[in-house]
Amino acid sequence: MSMHPAVAFIGTGVMGGAMAGHLLRAGHPLVVHTRTRGKAGPLLEAGAVWADSPGYAVRDADVVVTMVGYPADVEQVYLGAGGIIEQAKPGTLLIDMTTSTPSLASRIAEVAEARGLQALDAPVSGGDVGARNATLTIMAGGSRGAFDSALPLFKVMGTTFTHMGASGSGQHAKMANQIGIAGTMLGLIEALQYAKAARLELARTHEALSGGGANSWSWGAYGPRILSGDFAPGFYVKHFVKDLRIALDEAGAMGLALPGLELAESLYERLLEEEGAELGTQALWLLYERGGQG
Ligand code: NAP
Repeated sequence: MSMHPAVAFIGTGVMGGAMAGHLLRAGHPLVVHTRTRGKAGPLLEAGAVWADSPGYAVRDADVVVTMVGYPADVEQVYLGAGGIIEQAKPGTLLIDMTTSTPSLASRIAEVAEARGLQALDAPVSGGDVGARNATLTIMAGGSRGAFDSALPLFKVMGTTFTHMGASGSGQHAKMANQIGIAGTMLGLIEALQYAKAARLELARTHEALSGGGANSWSWGAYGPRILSGDFAPGFYVKHFVKDLRIALDEAGAMGLALPGLELAESLYERLLEEEGAELGTQALWLLYERGGQG
């Protein structure tokens, strides 16, 4: 593969827009497609080329990166008629960075291999800030060879990269990550709710505890947004609920009871139904503010 393989990037939302921008600035020829064309605007102004469908986008690509929303979107762009698997040239490396299901990742890898393509599931952690600052953590499933080929691109978008094992294992690692985040989000919200009930000054409490054992990635990323009344995504509630449901399904299939995950999932379900799917995950604060957690 050349120093700067041609990249087709599908899905340029909160995460994908920033990640694709890094690839473009690093010198990769970039073709983009996303459902709502306006969301590719900054990339097109910076020199990316627009394609009208995922299939068109990937025809001359050496590497395809996808960052869409849900497993159904992943299935459509890869396996749909005229989609990526059908249109990519043999030898193309396919990297799905969406948070999706392990089983779909394995299915895509199998179909891709049968067509002479290589596929990785490579979901990310680090949030919108990590995407913007190119500090994402990337956990990948697939062959070691495919991982090694993807590494130069991963280094443009992130700082921590791990080959987890066979196809689907990147998604399993991401589910473990989301289970951890479910806990730290509840910890963040409940610690600040308690401080508020005890009439502590919230900004001071957040700052004081930032140096203590309650600190976490969620504490640092979302605490300040809660304090300033910023409930925009960040990370959409609708996507977190998707992730928590996948994690519960996978745990159930393995016969593993995770009561903390069940509690977080039920609270976020309530938030989604009662406050809105388009908010950021820190908006769980709003549910507690009106006593909706009880
Ligand atoms: P987002 O802003 O909704 O971005 C997804 C983009 O993909 C949207 O612009 C969407 O189009 C586009 N898309 C969806 N289906 C498509 C299709 N079939 N064909 C073409 N384009 C399609 O969401 P995001 O926050 O970037 O998250 C993307 C993925 O990363 C999700 O799986 C999420 O769970 C995961 N993730 C997010 C974060 C975070 O902090 N935001 C962190 C780690 C992982 P529309 O604009 O028309 O909806």
